[in-house]
Amino acid sequence: SARPAPPPPSASGTPEDSGRTGLDAASVRRGFFEHVRYSRGKNPETATPHDRFMALSLAVRDRLTDRWVKTARTYYEQDVKRAYYLSAEYLLGRALGNNLLNLNMYDAAAAAMQEVGVDLTQLLEMEPDAGLGNGGLGRLAACFLDSLATLGYPGMGYGIRYEFGIFSQDLVEGHQVERADEWLKFGNPWEIVRPEKAVPVRFFGRVEHHQGPDGRPVARWVGGKTVIGVPYDTPIAGYGNNTVNTLRLWQARASAEFDLLLFNAGDYERSVVEKNDSEVISKVLYPNDAFQAGKELRLKQQYFFVACSIADIVRRYLKNHNDFRDFSRKCAIQLNDTHPAIGVAELMRVLVDEKRLLWDEAWSITQETFGYTNHTLLAEAMERWPVSLFERLLPRHLEIIFEINQRFMRQVQIRYPFDVEKQQRMSLVEEGPEKKIRMAHLAVVGSHSINGVAALHTDLLRRDVLPDFAQMYPERFNNKTNGVTPRRWLAWCNPRLSKLITSRIGEGWATDLDQLQKLEPFAEDPEFRKAFREVKRANKEELAQHVRDLRWVQLNPDAIFDVQIKRLHEYKRQLLDAVHIVALWMKARRDPASVITPRAFLFGAKAAPGYHLAKLTIRLINGIAEVVNSDAGATGLQVVFLPNYRVSLAERIIPAADVSEQISTAGWEASGTGNMKLMLNGALTLGTLDGANVEIRDAVGDENFFLFGLTADEVIARKKAGYRPREVYEANTELREALDLIRSGFFSPEDRNLFQPLVDSLLNEDRYLVLADFASYAAKQEDVARAYRDQESWTKKCIINVARAGIFSSDRTIKQYAEEIWKVQRTDVE
Ligand code: PLP
Repeated sequence: SARPAPPPPSASGTPEDSGRTGLDAASVRRGFFEHVRYSRGKNPETATPHDRFMALSLAVRDRLTDRWVKTARTYYEQDVKRAYYLSAEYLLGRALGNNLLNLNMYDAAAAAMQEVGVDLTQLLEMEPDAGLGNGGLGRLAACFLDSLATLGYPGMGYGIRYEFGIFSQDLVEGHQVERADEWLKFGNPWEIVRPEKAVPVRFFGRVEHHQGPDGRPVARWVGGKTVIGVPYDTPIAGYGNNTVNTLRLWQARASAEFDLLLFNAGDYERSVVEKNDSEVISKVLYPNDAFQAGKELRLKQQYFFVACSIADIVRRYLKNHNDFRDFSRKCAIQLNDTHPAIGVAELMRVLVDEKRLLWDEAWSITQETFGYTNHTLLAEAMERWPVSLFERLLPRHLEIIFEINQRFMRQVQIRYPFDVEKQQRMSLVEEGPEKKIRMAHLAVVGSHSINGVAALHTDLLRRDVLPDFAQMYPERFNNKTNGVTPRRWLAWCNPRLSKLITSRIGEGWATDLDQLQKLEPFAEDPEFRKAFREVKRANKEELAQHVRDLRWVQLNPDAIFDVQIKRLHEYKRQLLDAVHIVALWMKARRDPASVITPRAFLFGAKAAPGYHLAKLTIRLINGIAEVVNSDAGATGLQVVFLPNYRVSLAERIIPAADVSEQISTAGWEASGTGNMKLMLNGALTLGTLDGANVEIRDAVGDENFFLFGLTADEVIARKKAGYRPREVYEANTELREALDLIRSGFFSPEDRNLFQPLVDSLLNEDRYLVLADFASYAAKQEDVARAYRDQESWTKKCIINVARAGIFSSDRTIKQYAEEIWKVQRTDVE
């Protein structure tokens, strides 16, 4: 070309040093106006509120970007070991406020916006939640990303950029109605698409076996269809440091080749159909929590994002390395449940087929690289894929899984000769009318670490779910009790309590949550207790305002705010809560003197769209609410179901809660994290000995926890002895009358039989022992009401709960993963 080439950019001349991205109010204001004009193409006068939200977010992203680029360079230059978190779900919530907090620029942004006549809190409300998850597992992944960045660990999240995340929930005449959640409709200011890093992924096709030039057999997976994974990167900022890690989410795109091919052949219609077939892979998150639907598209989604991620991890590793000897010293891959477990077979395929490693070499690398986190004991959640489906969709992976299984079965035979039943129990292949691959077994044999998410859950995992594996590989099993990030779940969502805490113990708690222990002496300080109560009161009034706007119910802020917020599931027992409210209301109606203290029962819960009993439970709660709220003056009882429970709604409810309902049937909740968030915000737990409730109670002491119900062992014993719920019903008048009232149609005048299936399921089977635990629950609820009347003593309990919440920081959890499983080092970014 005749044109002279421009000089290459010099390192010192890069814009990161230009001072364009200062964190002071004047710089933020400048950045905001630049983006109004150059990103939104508007004048300040014509900018809409949405333009302003985008402009401020982009200005904040600029400030993240300097640190993001530096972080990436630091990791690359130091060739650090990285932790890769593979998760089908990320329940991130909103980003703007969290980024302002973590960059310590909230005040500057608020001031900058005020100067230009914009209310920052209104801008914050414009952001849709990034709801790419169903519940606990996805929210855990989001808390882990925050902790990885805050602790300065080289960590990266991989997942799917669903176009439709978890549905949005409406209530229509008390029924749940699902609406599509179009979170990307107005654009996403946080992500950067990187088409140059796209990855092709094969599906279907066949396997050809040849003799390689080196005399070794070669398997070639050929034919089928190729889909392209395009990565979208979201910056994940640490709190108070310069680390900005990456969440890389893959979107499916049709590969251009066949698209064009068909188009040129004149078959336009088919090319469009094929394009849709490919792109549907990242369209929608399956809305089931702890339930395997077994749909082909779901397995496609799993393989799609895992194949893209492993290709990306291998590509990055090979930038600094020529062979795979150091792979597991540079890469740790954590499987968030079995959703990405196909990664074990995929890494084997890449190493053996594409990189030509020997099987044994590849297998050691794979085992040393992967760790597997189990999240549930529910049988219906255990992923098992039909062999026939695998054979069609992922033929090479099926061969690899069979080979892994053959070698593994040989180990089992040698260790336990003649025990054929053990081999059948441990096999990766489940026999039966339809052969299936057990994904948990694949994850277990392919990993050096298998962890549960609370002490009790890990015990039950060892004892009941994977006993043969725990016996054969005891050293692989370990516990990592879940945690929650104190940045979003205290510093951000509860500014009043944060300020009060900081006024007494300084601000170190936000990155060292054990410092909350320093609050404990203040439990004895009447002035502090008063201040603590004022904070809770103000939070309750703020929530009451929101509830009035949303549901036209005026909550009594003097009432106990008793909250149950979580996915709707039989094992979580929202029904126990609901039946008890009916019993309480009947008692209050008969004998107003029985009312100990006013109470407001708040629920938030999405039901999987196909889960009939769960949806009926929502309708029942709304039916009860209608009745109870109509004579709240007489009974002091109120009931509100808040629609569309999600991260941003949790941030409003949790700071205002007095009582945290954690009432799952013992042995069924793996950990829970809502329980930790509520404790951290000064709610007292009313709970069973399930999941992390056990550890919460150990931390706060029995006097600061309302315990009820059967233990996990008692639940098993009770069932073994032949549990007959109808006998419990006959013997307990309060319970019987409440159930009879529900069954009579009193709460569903439009359809008197509506709730019969609910009552029948309780009387005939009651798989989750609602009736067995009812009396114990009701008695403990009475203790709660009495305890609340002594406000000084109640406040002491709340303060002790907050003071002892330190161990439930996800920083603690992530340090344990990093040190004990991943062996990654903290890496400062200059
Ligand atoms: N959904 C959302 C939006 C959450 O924030 C959380 C955790 O706090 C959960 C679900 C999980 O709740 P739980 O641990 O009570 O099941």
